[in-house]
Amino acid sequence: MQLLEERIIKDGKVFSGNVLKVDSFLNHQIDVELLDKMGEEIKNLFNGVNITKVLTIEASGIGVGCMVANHFKCPLLFAKKSKTLNIKGDVYTSKVESFTHQCTYDIIVSKDFLKENDTVLIVDDFLAKGNALIGLIDIVNQAGAKLAGCAIAIEKGYQGGGDKLRAQGVRVESMAIIDEMDDTTGNIVFRK
Ligand code: 5GP
Repeated sequence: MQLLEERIIKDGKVFSGNVLKVDSFLNHQIDVELLDKMGEEIKNLFNGVNITKVLTIEASGIGVGCMVANHFKCPLLFAKKSKTLNIKGDVYTSKVESFTHQCTYDIIVSKDFLKENDTVLIVDDFLAKGNALIGLIDIVNQAGAKLAGCAIAIEKGYQGGGDKLRAQGVRVESMAIIDEMDDTTGNIVFRK
């Protein structure tokens, strides 16, 4: 998506450790208009698929997830990163290795909100090694729900998670795929 690529070039900052900071428009301060356009693009890509639930992971997936869910006119459901007092009763859980924090944490989704008759679109802000998506897919499978695919704002293609999932038959659509990123020059190369 050209608009997103242009914005990444304009406002994205490349940090060491393969981290791209886009917190001026994607996951801290949010450019609602840009995210709404991504929601529209994702809706067009999955047009004709009866998505009943958009699933993401807190906290940075919630912004883009809301905009996508609004276009599908379905609820956004986000996996929580730790058990809170708000969640009572049965939950689906999975373990995720965090790319940004280099630790493993549990994700939790209440069984009340994900059922076997759901068709789920997983959404996230970033895709790197694919661990967050693998945890979310595990939860969809535990629920016996149908996975329509995954829609991502920014995929760092060179970290391999997206292509690994595609090779396993998972539909992964990314609004921008970065194939090279250099933290010394700040140079970013997008997949054509
Ligand atoms: P993965 O599990 O695919 O390795 O990493 C995806 C998760 O890590 C996303 O949920 C995202 O929040 C975070 N993440 C991965 N790479 C980056 C990055 O370059 N910048 C930011 N801001 N978050 C990232």
